[in-house]
Amino acid sequence: MPFSLSHRWPVRQLIAATSFILLVACAEKPTAADAQTLQATPVATAPAIIPPVVPSTDPLDLQPTQTFAEWQASFRKDALAAGIRPDLFDRAFANVSFDASVIRADRSQPEFSRPVWEYLDGALSPLRVRKGQALIDQYADVLQSIEQRYGVDRQTLVSVWGMESNFGQVQGSKSVINSLATLAYEGRRPGFAHAQLIAALQILQQGDITPEKMLGSWAGAMGQTQFIPTTYNTHAVDFDGDGRRDIWGSPADALASTAHYLQSSGWQRGQPWGFEVQLPGDFNYTLADGATRKSVAEWRQLGVILPNSGQVAAGSDQLSAALLLPAGYRGPAFLILDNFRAILKYNNSSSYALAVSLLSERFNGGGLISGSWPKDDLPLSRTERMELQTLLSARNYDAGTADGIIGANTRKAIRSAQQSLGWPADGYPTHKLLESLRTQ
Ligand code: CA
Repeated sequence: MPFSLSHRWPVRQLIAATSFILLVACAEKPTAADAQTLQATPVATAPAIIPPVVPSTDPLDLQPTQTFAEWQASFRKDALAAGIRPDLFDRAFANVSFDASVIRADRSQPEFSRPVWEYLDGALSPLRVRKGQALIDQYADVLQSIEQRYGVDRQTLVSVWGMESNFGQVQGSKSVINSLATLAYEGRRPGFAHAQLIAALQILQQGDITPEKMLGSWAGAMGQTQFIPTTYNTHAVDFDGDGRRDIWGSPADALASTAHYLQSSGWQRGQPWGFEVQLPGDFNYTLADGATRKSVAEWRQLGVILPNSGQVAAGSDQLSAALLLPAGYRGPAFLILDNFRAILKYNNSSSYALAVSLLSERFNGGGLISGSWPKDDLPLSRTERMELQTLLSARNYDAGTADGIIGANTRKAIRSAQQSLGWPADGYPTHKLLESLRTQ
């Protein structure tokens, strides 16, 4: 699902909520609520690729004003104007019809979010670790070539492969043209779907894949890398040299395309993604917003303790890092570096990036978290998040629109409320805070 932020939008779509994920279709993908969205606003519901959108409060807003056939005739003109051949268009649309299941998925607003620790348990399952280790051996030669060309290590590439499509096993079985046509007709982001559909037709016209084999998720994420069509056009590569960029059937092409995308997203060869850290008891948690950047040396001066008695720090002191608390101050803390931010451009969910990072270390026997998760503190539901926002705003802590999305404004409001209560101001939405606001 890479969308580069530039063409993509802040990312994963809606919700953002409290802590992380919600599972929807594809198994271990973060979906809803990502507590700490590091860039812009959160995102969330299902599979990737879609720009965030504030849910419409009026269902009538979403009704198309033309029939699907009328839309298709109009879109055909746009496609031809964009250089798509008429015969190619007609072949690609030969069996296209409106798919209501795509619209249901697009509008789904999950009530409950999966806690980050449960998400990580699924993402880092022993079975997935063993499969990844076997694939690292099996594809050792091609992975070495990819590392040399793009500078991204093999463990990270295989980790993304596992997270995106379970190493190619779960790529989505819907016609990409059909899904994107449905979304362009009646989805929440018709302009985005329109652009993706044009890009998908361009891919077909280039001859990389046939319409019948161009399969993906309901949102149009394709193949083993789950690229959306525009990302495919800018970053997919033919690494096995057969003349086609086959992210569906060729692991070499898929892994190299992933490496190319991460390289373009700021990946730094040889650097770590980050590391788990310990915080001092009197730490100023307002700094731990996942976005405030300081050098590793500056964080150490603030009392942040790095692993291995500072060994890790030796080569990292000048690197730019942010502090991430995926479950608030009571849970584990991580310093995250440029390579973590590159993974976020694949999928702007801090839980996703953490899973990719930890899984890459699990392949070598690492990646274990020493801090404990606050498992007695489940993520707020969507309804509770909206209530929290309403109560915060009523107390003059401006939480913005009560949309259930815990974005920057809501976090700031939470911190203010926490400070006035004398609590650690980590900006993390909890049941305790909600209860407190209800009774104030
Ligand atoms: Ca190829």
